[in-house]
Amino acid sequence: MNAYLASVIENVKTKYANEPEFIQTVEEVFSSLEPVIERHPEYEKADLLGRMVEPERTFIFRVTWEDDKGNWHTNTGYRTQFNGAIGPYKGGLRFKKDVNLSIMKFLGFEQIFKNSLTGLPIGGGKGGSDFDPTGKSDREIMRFCQSFMQALYRYIGPDVDVPAGDIGVGSREIGYLYGEYRRLKGAFENGVLTGKGFAYGGSLVRPQATGYGSVYYLENVLKHEGDSIQGKTIACAGFGNVTWGICQKAAELGARVVTLSGPDGYIHDPDGVITPEKIAYLVEMRNSGRNKVQDYADKFGVQFFPGEKPWGVKVDVVMPSAMENDVHMEHAKQIVSNGIKYYIEVANMPTTNDALQFLLAQPGVIVAPSKAVNAGGVATSALEMAQNSERLSWTEEEVDRQLRHIMDTIYQMSVDAAAEYGLGYNLVAGANIAGFLRVAEAMMAQGVF
Ligand code: GLU
Repeated sequence: MNAYLASVIENVKTKYANEPEFIQTVEEVFSSLEPVIERHPEYEKADLLGRMVEPERTFIFRVTWEDDKGNWHTNTGYRTQFNGAIGPYKGGLRFKKDVNLSIMKFLGFEQIFKNSLTGLPIGGGKGGSDFDPTGKSDREIMRFCQSFMQALYRYIGPDVDVPAGDIGVGSREIGYLYGEYRRLKGAFENGVLTGKGFAYGGSLVRPQATGYGSVYYLENVLKHEGDSIQGKTIACAGFGNVTWGICQKAAELGARVVTLSGPDGYIHDPDGVITPEKIAYLVEMRNSGRNKVQDYADKFGVQFFPGEKPWGVKVDVVMPSAMENDVHMEHAKQIVSNGIKYYIEVANMPTTNDALQFLLAQPGVIVAPSKAVNAGGVATSALEMAQNSERLSWTEEEVDRQLRHIMDTIYQMSVDAAAEYGLGYNLVAGANIAGFLRVAEAMMAQGVF
C-alpha cells in the first residue's frame, strides 16, 4: 500500500484505538484511494488525508431531562462537525443507547463522502445522544428534545450546521427540536433542521427519500445487468423510515420486500410487505416505541424468527437497511451460498470489513455501498434547505424528479470514477473515489488550515 496512506491509517489506529467503528470506516474508505494518492502526490504534501480524519470540531454536552414520574436523568449529547469544505455541515442526529464518540465519528466521516457524492453543497457532520427512546412517552421525548436543543442551538444554524433525523429521530423529534430552537433564537430560521413536517417547511418526499433513492439506485444496477426490478424479492432489515420507503417504492415497481427485522429477531412474509395496510403498519410499529418486529408477525400471521437475522433467506436482492455491522462473515457466506446476485447496502456501514471484502471478491455478486445507495435521504434534505431559503415549496413530482436524477448521477459518477482509476466495475471504490475527489479539490483550493 502507498506509504502515506498506510501511515495515516496506522496513526488513526494508534491514536483512536478505543474507537473501533471510526477505525473501520477510515480503513474502508481509504483502502479505495491508493490509485488516487499515487496520482496526486500534492495531497501528501498538504497532509490532506491526515486533515480529513480529524473532525474540524466536536461538541460533547450534558443533557438532563425529567421523566413522567418526576425523576431526573442525564445523557451525553454529541455533534461532530467533521468537514465543512463543500458546504454547511449536514447529517443526522441519532438517539440510541449505544451512541458514543466512535459511532458519531464513523457516521460523520461517512457523511463527508456521501454528501459530496450528491453533488450538492453540504459538508459532513453527525450528532446524537445515548438516550434510549424505547418505551418513552411522548412527553418524555419532548422534554429530552428540548433539553438537547438547549445545548445544541449555539453550534448550529442554516449556514453553519443543519442536523436532521437518523435512528431514533423522526419527524416528531425534529418538530420538538425545531420548536425549542425557534423559542431560543426568537426567529423562524427553519433551514436549521431538515426532515421537518410539511406544515412548517418540510419537503415533500423527504420522509420516503432514503428508501426511494435506494430503490432508484438498485434500478441502475439492474439495468447494467440487463435485468429488471419486476418480480424481484428483497430482504430488508429494520422497520423504520428507510425500510418503509423501500417497501413502498418496491411494491410500486412490482417487487416485494419479504423480510423485516428488529432487535428481537426477524419476520418472513413471502407475500411481501406490499399492501397499504402492511406498509402503514410499519409506521404504527415504529411509533408505538416498543421496537419489536414480532408485532408484524402477530398481526399478519407470518413467521417470526426470534434472535435471528434475515440474511439466510433466499431472495433476489439483499438490502441491509437497519444499522452498522449487521452483516458478518457468516451471513456473507450464506448470501453467497444462496446464489444471491445483488448485495445493496442501505444502512450506514452495515457490513463488517471482512464480510465486505469477501463479497467483493465473489465474481457472481454485485456490491453497492451505502454511502451511495442511501444518499437520497440527505440529498433531499439539501433540497429541503433550498426550498427553505427560497421560501417556497416544490411539488412532489419536482422533488421526486430531482431525487431520481441525483441517484442516477451518483451511480454514474461511481462507475466512471472506478473506471478512470483502472478498477473496473467497482461501485464501492468508485463511490469512495468520487466522493473523496470533490472534497479534496475544495480543501486544496481553500489552503491549509
Ligand atoms: N441520517 C441520514 C443520513 O445518514 C440523513 C441525514 C440528513 O438528512 O441530513 O444520511
